[in-house]
Amino acid sequence: MEQDCIFCKIANGHIPSATVYEDEMFRVILDLSPATKGHALVLPKRHFRNIFDIDETTASRLFVVAAKVARAMKKSLGCEGLNIVQNNEEIAGQTVFHFHLHIIPRYADDGQKILWNPGTSDPEVQKEIACKISEALDADK
Ligand code: AMP
Ligand code: ZN
Repeated sequence: MEQDCIFCKIANGHIPSATVYEDEMFRVILDLSPATKGHALVLPKRHFRNIFDIDETTASRLFVVAAKVARAMKKSLGCEGLNIVQNNEEIAGQTVFHFHLHIIPRYADDGQKILWNPGTSDPEVQKEIACKISEALDADK
């Protein structure tokens, strides 16, 4: 646990929360300022700032939990779909610096717009970018 981290305290049960799921690695809670009805956050119990430092075991279990919760939301809340959002660093909208995955149920006319403005691409530039990322991945092996 990280001192002064609110999500460490919530995830480990030191601060009460509206918990929808808990296991040895995660707690899933309802967001305090929900974008839609049922907006939930998957919190690892261990502290990771964000995706840049999350460990492999936590990362690999994360979507198993997210999928479980998503199916339960569809069944219990009757959402038509849902968005998974995960913000990393301030530039990308992260405000709480303990890794968390947003699960946001979507309903007709829910007033939300969780999309981006599509850009344009050039095949040569795309190739260059893909190469750069690939090389960084290879260097990391
Ligand atoms: P992000 O902007 O991705 O870092 O998301 C942080 C989210 O945490 C926001 O949606 C907040 O509404 C939510 N949040 C902040 N504090 C609490 C809290 N004490 N309990 C539940 N959700 C919280
Ligand atoms: Zn933390």
